[in-house]
Amino acid sequence: MKNFILFTFSILSFFQMPTKAFGESKMGSTEADCLPQYRFDGKKIVLSENEWKEKLTPDQFKILRDHGTETPFHNAYDSNKEKGIYVCAGCALPVYSSNSKFDSGTGWPSFWQPLCTKNVTITEEGYLFFKRNEVSCSRCGGHLGHVFTDGPPPTGKRYCMNSAALKFILNERYN
Ligand SMILES: [Zn+2]
Repeated sequence: MKNFILFTFSILSFFQMPTKAFGESKMGSTEADCLPQYRFDGKKIVLSENEWKEKLTPDQFKILRDHGTETPFHNAYDSNKEKGIYVCAGCALPVYSSNSKFDSGTGWPSFWQPLCTKNVTITEEGYLFFKRNEVSCSRCGGHLGHVFTDGPPPTGKRYCMNSAALKFILNERYN
């Protein structure tokens, strides 16, 4: 119940974000889009597997809670060029902005930096030549995708995400 209240409160605060959040990012500056209201406050959301199953669609559950990978090119946001922010589909924590989205050609939505560094958690997985860096949501622990070092300037990072782990919020929503 406590988690549900926390989650509801988070959703409510999220929808009260101001429109100035959608300014163009300054190339090269760190966390250009990380406004205070986007920043993860450190309060994690922990739900049981059954609670997640009730809350998420089967596709969302497969990616977020079961570390799945969706089909490239045939997903919601790979070619999305609208301006706005991407939030975690599990807990609505803002994780990426359209300002750092780029066309990686991989078939998955790709970003060169997260909205706020602390909103995503990077964990090394695998071993030897099969090491990868997993990206998960810092609030609910949901699996979002992986980060690689072959991205464009200014960071050189490629955050390769699953559309099903994200929800896109058009900037008009806050006007
Ligand atoms: Zn989350």
